[in-house]
Amino acid sequence: MGSVNRSTICYFIVWLFIVPPGSIYVFVNFPLGEVNWFQVMIFIFCGFLTLYFPIMRNGKPVFLVMWVTVPVFLMHGLFVEIITMQISLLAFFLNSPNLSSIIRRLFLNSILFFILSITAAFFFDLVGGEVGLVDFYSVVLAVFCYQLVHKVFNDLLLKLYATYRKKTTPFNSKELLAEYAVVLIVLPLSLTFYFLLQLVGSGAFLLLGIPFFFITFVVRLYSNSEKINVYLQQAGDIGTELSGLLSEQEVIEQFVIKVSDMFDAEYAYLFDHKEGWLELVCSYEHKELIDIEFGLLSVGQGIAGFVLKKNHSVIYSKRKEWEMISKDKAPGDMQSILCVPITRNQKIEAVLLLASKKKSAFADYQLKILDLLCSYFAVSVEKVRYMEEMVTKNERCALTKLYNYRYLEKKLHYEKDRLKNNMITNLSVVMLDIDHFKKVNDNYGHQCGNDILCLFAKKIEKALPEGGTVGRYGGEEFVFILPDMVKNEAVEFAEKLRAKISKHAFTIIPDLSEDKCPLVVQITSSIGVSSIPEDTDEVMALLRNADRALYIGAKQAGRNRVAEYVK
Ligand code: GH3
Ligand code: MG
Ligand code: MG
Repeated sequence: MGSVNRSTICYFIVWLFIVPPGSIYVFVNFPLGEVNWFQVMIFIFCGFLTLYFPIMRNGKPVFLVMWVTVPVFLMHGLFVEIITMQISLLAFFLNSPNLSSIIRRLFLNSILFFILSITAAFFFDLVGGEVGLVDFYSVVLAVFCYQLVHKVFNDLLLKLYATYRKKTTPFNSKELLAEYAVVLIVLPLSLTFYFLLQLVGSGAFLLLGIPFFFITFVVRLYSNSEKINVYLQQAGDIGTELSGLLSEQEVIEQFVIKVSDMFDAEYAYLFDHKEGWLELVCSYEHKELIDIEFGLLSVGQGIAGFVLKKNHSVIYSKRKEWEMISKDKAPGDMQSILCVPITRNQKIEAVLLLASKKKSAFADYQLKILDLLCSYFAVSVEKVRYMEEMVTKNERCALTKLYNYRYLEKKLHYEKDRLKNNMITNLSVVMLDIDHFKKVNDNYGHQCGNDILCLFAKKIEKALPEGGTVGRYGGEEFVFILPDMVKNEAVEFAEKLRAKISKHAFTIIPDLSEDKCPLVVQITSSIGVSSIPEDTDEVMALLRNADRALYIGAKQAGRNRVAEYVK
């Protein structure tokens, strides 16, 4: 941020030394003739519009503003041309979301176009051009020279600037050629405009302005369809990429990242749908995946809930349109929103919400592309779920997806070998049992008990130290295998884990109650710790020891505590 502001100030100072004094110099040394200011205002208006609605080519704007600035120069001279150009540049202001960078660009453009105005006028003069000249061939020659110099110097200055900022030049030779072709189109247009102005006065604006802007409009429509092709291509690539991923988490994250990058959305959120409730499973803000604590959304609640209820996409172009519906937590600079349901076999599996700081950032045709992407996503998720199931059937518990007892045993044997070969010197086992879990089942139903076990598993998996393994030992008992961790460290880890669990609010949807409102359940756990070499030399004894510590030291002592094994 600091450097942006500093460079903005630098550009401002350079601007201050060039543009205002330069303009005064021009004003004093090239006195104005009789100027039709009404006409100049229309010129400025046209110049402004031309810059505000640039025609896009390969995603870059092609500015045709010379169709306005050349006639104004020919009619009224350099000073009026400078004024017209400079005021028209303000169109950039309205077109950009980022104030700081746009101010810098504005100064830069102002300096650039000021220098271009002066240079082109100089060469115009050199080849015998004169303000108000009417001899056809002299005008053609002078204007050709004017436009060519304008374009050549424009490219030179941009190249100079790119070198200064150590960026690669934004053009390749093919594009450059296309741009010179544009100059050739604008040349007859600006000449026609000039002669028409001589002939019919301000009526020329109607005769040429209307078709010009109409054509601009049509070309913009066309370039939208060109954009669709680019998007389709990208969507295909994303689909291929998603189908190559191997875990559900990866598919979700890559999908959210790719889609928000593709649509220039600063914010992207993916909600998983389960029985009328939406859970936020992935958040991506300003090109970063982040963790947000976000309660469940019910049908109709918030924008995502609204989309779930209607089973229908929505597009909002500015904040005012959705502020009433949204559930308070939206970032302050959020404006445009695109929110779509993700369906599979006529069922809504998830809801995706994209948002931008810009107003009117999303268009209808993007919705169709997004629909396509969502179906790629749904298919990819289904595929990895199936694959994960196949892979994990042997080693993982079907409910929590943690490692199962069989795997834990295998892992312990592996660690035993490593101990024998002195590859590790310590090994700790932390065993954990949820307190009064029967009551949870009794109060909320077995299904809720399962849901809590899953959430619990996720929670403790997140806490797993590097190099360690965690698995479901049985029912609501879990085991951590922690190589190279001495007993004290293991106890410390267990204590932190216990505290974290006891403070966490597990949110579930009870299947017993009628209204199906989310419920917050608090649980505690009892933990036993045993280590090699502090307690034993035998790997399998670790489990027995930890189990004993757990029941005698923790459960019997009142639960919600950590106990280490004592001989
Ligand atoms: P404490 O450990 O504090 O002594 O009390 P507890 O109620 O947790 O008792 P215990 O560990 O003996 O019982 C475990 C209970 O956990 C028994 C069973 O109802 C429940 N349970 C075990 N496995 C599952 C499961 O996969 N799903 C659900 N919903 N419940 C389970
Ligand atoms: Mg228990
Ligand atoms: Mg138990």
